Amino acid sequence: MKKKINTSFFLIAALAILLTLSLATGVFYGRFREQVVSDLKTYAHVVSRLYEQAPENPEGQDGIRVTVVAADGTVLYDTNGEAAEMENHRERPEIAAAFETGEGEAVRKSETMAKNTFYYALRMKDGSVIRVAREARSVWSILGNAVPFILLIAAGLMALCGLLGRLLTASIVTPIQEMAKHMNEPQDVETYRELQPFMETIRKQHEDILKSARMRQEFTANVSHELKTPLTSISGYAELMENGMVEHADVARFAGEIHRNANRLLTLINDTIRLSELDSIEETGRRDEIPFEKVDLYQLAAAGGTALQINAEKQKVSLSVEGSSCWVKGCRSMLEEVLYNLCDNAIRYNNPGGHVWVTVRPEGGKVILSVRDDGIGIPKEHQGRIFERFYRVDKSRSKVTGGTGLGLAIVKHIVTQHQGELSVESEPGKGTEIRIVFPAFRENIS
Ligand code: ADP
Repeated sequence: MKKKINTSFFLIAALAILLTLSLATGVFYGRFREQVVSDLKTYAHVVSRLYEQAPENPEGQDGIRVTVVAADGTVLYDTNGEAAEMENHRERPEIAAAFETGEGEAVRKSETMAKNTFYYALRMKDGSVIRVAREARSVWSILGNAVPFILLIAAGLMALCGLLGRLLTASIVTPIQEMAKHMNEPQDVETYRELQPFMETIRKQHEDILKSARMRQEFTANVSHELKTPLTSISGYAELMENGMVEHADVARFAGEIHRNANRLLTLINDTIRLSELDSIEETGRRDEIPFEKVDLYQLAAAGGTALQINAEKQKVSLSVEGSSCWVKGCRSMLEEVLYNLCDNAIRYNNPGGHVWVTVRPEGGKVILSVRDDGIGIPKEHQGRIFERFYRVDKSRSKVTGGTGLGLAIVKHIVTQHQGELSVESEPGKGTEIRIVFPAFRENIS
C-alpha cells in the first residue's frame, strides 16, 4: 500500500510540474515574443521615417540589423553585410507580406538552437521595403536556463511526496495494526469514521470466533463429565463382580445396571456425534448436502406415532396424532428425529394417565407441528434455556428416564436447517406445548 500511495504521489507531482512548466513557459514566451516584435515595429517605423526623409543608409543599433529591399527584391542595403552579394529577398515571408499588405513579420531559427531571429518588414512610400531584425533567445534557451530551478523544485516536491505518503500510510495502517494488537478491546482503538464498519465487522467476527471456541470448550467439558458417570458405574459394578463380591442372586441386577449404563453411554455418544455433525453442516455451509425432499409431515407423524405408542404405553401415557396431510421441504430422517425427540420428552415428562397430542396442520401458508402434553410442565424461568446443550430442568428425572440433555438442542438445530421457528408454551403442573412453524412446500422453491 505504501508503494502504491508513494507512486501515485510521485506521478501527481511529476504531472503537476510538467503541466505548470509548459503552461508557464508558453505564457512567458508568448509575452516575450510580443515584446520583441513590438520593439522591432517601433524601431522599423522610426528608421523608415528617417529613411524616407533622407535616404541615407541607416545604422543598426543594439544588435538590430536593418535591410532595405527594392520593389523587385534586390537588397539595396544591409547593416550586416555586402548588399550586392545578397540574393534576391522577394520570397522572404516577411518581405513578401510587406509588399502585399504594407507590413510583415516572421521568426526564423538562427544557426544555434538557443536563438531565434525576429523579422519585421515595412513598405515605404517609394515601394521599397525596410526590414529590421534581431536575434532573441529561443524558447529552448529559456527552458534550459530554468532547468536547475525545475530540478530543485522537483526534488523538493518528491521529498515532500515521500514524506506525505509515509505519514498518510502510517495514519491509515496504524489503527489497523493497533486493532490487530488489541483484538480483545477493539473499542479502545481510535480510527477513521470510514474504517469503523470494517472494524466493527472484524470485531464481531472475532467475538463470534471466541464465543464459538468457548462453547466448544464447554461442550467438550460437559460431554466428558456426562460420560464419566455411567462409566464409573459400569467400572464399579464390573469390579465388584470380578472380585466375587456379588451374591449370585444379585448378578442379574448388577449386569442390568451395567447394561443400563452402557446404553446411556451409547445414547450420549450418539447424540454428541449427531450434534457435531449438525454443527459442521452449519459452520461449513454445506446445507445443500442435506437430502431435502417433499415430505408429508402428517404422514411422518402418524407413522412415527405407532413406534412411540409402545413407549407411551410403558409410561401409561396415551398418544394421539391429529391433523391433515401437509407438505414441507425437508429431510425425512431429520424430521423423524424432531418428532421422536419431542414426543419422547412429552412422554417422559408426563404423569401416569397423561396425554400427548401431536397435531400437524396448515396455517396461513405455513405448516404447524405441535406436540402438546399435560405433563409436569416447565417453570417460566427455565423455558428460555431448555434448547441449550445439557440444560435440564430436573437433572435426576432426565437421567432416570434416559435423557441426555441434548434432545432439544438437536431439535433446534434441525428446525433452523429447515428454516422453521420454534416456540414453547408451558405451565408447571398443567403441561407443555412445543410448536414449530415450517414454511410450506412450494414447487420451484429452493
Ligand atoms: P433431556 O434429554 O434431558 O430430555 P432435552 O434437551 O430433550 O433433554 O430437554 C431439556 C430439558 O427440558 C429436559 O431436561 C426437561 O427438563 C425439559 N423438558 C423438555 N421437554 C419437556 C416437556 N415436554 N415437559 C416438561 N419438561 C420438558
